[in-house]
Amino acid sequence: MIKTLIKNIATMPLFYSYLINKPCLRIIMYHGISPSDNINPNDFESHLKELNKYFNIQPLSKACDLFYNNYDDKRPLISLTFDDGLKNNFSYVTPLLEKYKTPATFFLCSDLLSGDDMLWNHEMLLRLRYLKKSQGWINFSKHNFNNLTPKEFVKSCKSKSYSTVINLMQIIRKLSKEYIPTSIEKERYHIMSTKQAQNLPDLIEIGSHTKDHPILDKIENDKIIMEQVIDSKYILQDTLNRKITTFCYPNGNHNKFTDDLVIQNYQYAVTTIQGFCSLNDSPFQIPRIAAIKDTKSMMFSLLKPMRH
Ligand SMILES: [Zn+2]
Repeated sequence: MIKTLIKNIATMPLFYSYLINKPCLRIIMYHGISPSDNINPNDFESHLKELNKYFNIQPLSKACDLFYNNYDDKRPLISLTFDDGLKNNFSYVTPLLEKYKTPATFFLCSDLLSGDDMLWNHEMLLRLRYLKKSQGWINFSKHNFNNLTPKEFVKSCKSKSYSTVINLMQIIRKLSKEYIPTSIEKERYHIMSTKQAQNLPDLIEIGSHTKDHPILDKIENDKIIMEQVIDSKYILQDTLNRKITTFCYPNGNHNKFTDDLVIQNYQYAVTTIQGFCSLNDSPFQIPRIAAIKDTKSMMFSLLKPMRH
């Protein structure tokens, strides 16, 4: 009851005027949006209608340029970011962004644009679920990690070394070679093709999300880290004929070495740390706010007091 009341007050225009004096930049972090995802296209359309009422929505680089240079417009700044370059971002998100003339930033992996690629963690999860239904799971789990569910196993891989994950992926692919994704799995997890990425309207800014989404601070070899951070930028620039100035750390992981590379090659970088961006935040470690399905709840989360 009280929660509903607060939510209703929070969505009143007057309440928003209070935001104007707070120098902060809000960046929303989206991933997949499709009829089979938690946030579906209707939810997203409702977000767009509400966000456009109260915020000055800009692509990430423009929003940061304005914010870090004494932005004093009355409308609070916000930026919508989409990680991973999922195909559903092309088929469901892009038409809605065009309909509402709303800019956004998509973070793409330069080497995952064949049209039927998936992020390694998505592919691993789906293949392990497939294996779990067969004898293959027994073989696999016996030799690897006992008693973990597929989801727990994939999560555990995010803290393993890059080479270990590559080896595990090879074993899993071999054991599950008959696996074919279902239409719902394709809708949720397939990444867009180069052609689709080339056809994204100018309204959408493109940023780099590495070459193939490794956990950067788990890579043992400096040369591979450099390729992931730097080459991804130039491959995307060449294939898409766009200027790439923004970077997104896969899973939010970074360290001193990756930070230095990002600082030398990009203007801004976002993490998965939850929060509003204040002027105290480094432009290379910008926090974000995870998107929420329910529009009122999301608008409420955008009004929470700033963390300081
Ligand atoms: Zn990602």
